[in-house]
Parts: sequence; C-alpha cells; structure tokens
Amino acid sequence: VIELKDVEKSFGATKVLTGVNLSIAKGETVVILGPSGSGKSTLLRTTNRLEPIDSGEIWYHGKPIPREGRELAAYRAEVGMVFQQFNLYPHKTAVQNITLAPVKRGKQKPEEARARALRLLADVNLSEHANKRPGALSGGQQQRVAIARAMAMDPEVILFDEPTSALDPEMIQEVVHVMKRLSADGMTMAVVTHEIGFARESADRIVFMDEGRIIEESDPESFFTNPRTERAQEFLGKIL
Ligand code: ATP
Ligand code: MG
Repeated sequence: VIELKDVEKSFGATKVLTGVNLSIAKGETVVILGPSGSGKSTLLRTTNRLEPIDSGEIWYHGKPIPREGRELAAYRAEVGMVFQQFNLYPHKTAVQNITLAPVKRGKQKPEEARARALRLLADVNLSEHANKRPGALSGGQQQRVAIARAMAMDPEVILFDEPTSALDPEMIQEVVHVMKRLSADGMTMAVVTHEIGFARESADRIVFMDEGRIIEESDPESFFTNPRTERAQEFLGKIL
C-alpha cells in the first residue's frame, strides 16, 4: 500500500532520514522502534506529508503521494495519523471532534456522521462521554476519541506516533486494547510505540531505526529474542 524508496530528509545540517526503504502491505501492522532522535516521528510525518522529503519517493498504491491541495487532503483521509498529544479541538465535544472532518469533506451528511460517530465511540467504550469536551476526559479517553476520529474518515492506513506516551500507566492499556483490536481486524497500521506487549502481540514486522536509518527489520519473535545488531541489543537492554 505504502512504499518509501531511498527517502532522505535533513533539517538544516542535520540528516534525519538516510536511505530509508520501507513498504507497508495491506492489513499489516508494522511497529517502528528506535532510540530517541532516531527519526521515527519524521518517518511517519513525511509519510503523511506533514514534512516534505529532500529526495527519494513515497508511493501510495503505486503513485507518488500528493504534495498539496485537494489531492493531499484526500490522501490524508486515506492515510490518517494519531499523535502523542491527541490534538483534539478543545471547544468541541467528543462527537463534534469526530464528525467535523467527514462533514466538512462532504463524506457524510451531519446526521449520518453523528450516528457513525456514536457507533465509533461505542467501539472504543466511550458512549457515555459522547457530549463531553476533551478537558472533561482523561488522557486515555481523549486518545480513544482521537482514534475514533481517525476511523471516521474510513482510512485505509493509520499512522500512530507514540499514542500512549503521554498517558498515565493505568490508561495505557485501554488505548493499547483499542489498537490491538484494530490490528486484529486487519487495519493497516504503522505504529511508533514503546509498548512492547503491543509489539509482540500485534506486530507483523518490527522495524528498528538508528540515526535515521532502518538497521533491522524482522518478525517480532526474532527481534525480541535474537536481535541481530548491537544497537538493537543495546536498545532492548534498556527497555525490557
Ligand atoms: P523520539 O523518540 O524522541 O520521539 P524520534 O525517533 O521520533 O525521537 P524525530 O522526532 O524524528 O526522532 O527526530 C529526529 C531528529 O530530527 C532529531 O535530531 C530532531 O532533533 C530532529 N528534528 C525533528 N524535527 C525537527 C524540526 N522540525 N526541525 C529541526 N530538527 C528536527
Ligand atoms: Mg518521536
């Protein structure tokens, strides 16, 4: 579905992605691991075209991703993103946060969108919080609203950038649970996370980055029991 070919990206003099090649197949859950500053967020952000790349190509269904305008907006409806900091609209309720984009993009009529939003909120176990604003919700609840909002566009792919890193420990599992279910239901996902339980259980593939390069790519079982590179061994030594 998505293919990155020889992607290079610098911020000023700092090279952040070097020769990155990655493909994500339909239905696959790819977990991206690596030390802080290794380029994980930049990889997802360039895939969503929140950042332009310097060279190389990013393809979606065999075509370069759009750079701007309506085509880019349409691409982002297909390839959604969930962030560490939820990014919900503070003055809108959970339902309004979810219906805004589909209604604005003419994907659904307001009543349809509302009914759909209520179903999505039920899916993430938030039915009784539908009319609350983000400020009245816990972090775990806000992140589940953010996931429901991403789902409201019927995306083909969702990119998750450390969706549980801003959460208190007791709220992490409720979000992980939702992500595990999405993965099991066949959603195509690329997930940057430190939740090793999620990676072991749900990942089809682990991609390990270091200093802007993908230096290891394997199935979770091999990666966690027998990492090939010293950098990956060192990384796992710190987090396991
Ligand atoms: P973390 O685990 O801490 O989230 P990361 O693997 O997601 O790290 P990135 O956020 O992709 O890493 O950052 C990679 C490098 O690019 C870092 O050196 C960072 O300082 C730099 N960088 C990222 N975004 C920008 C930006 N907008 N301007 C300048 N430098 C940036
Ligand atoms: Mg990051």
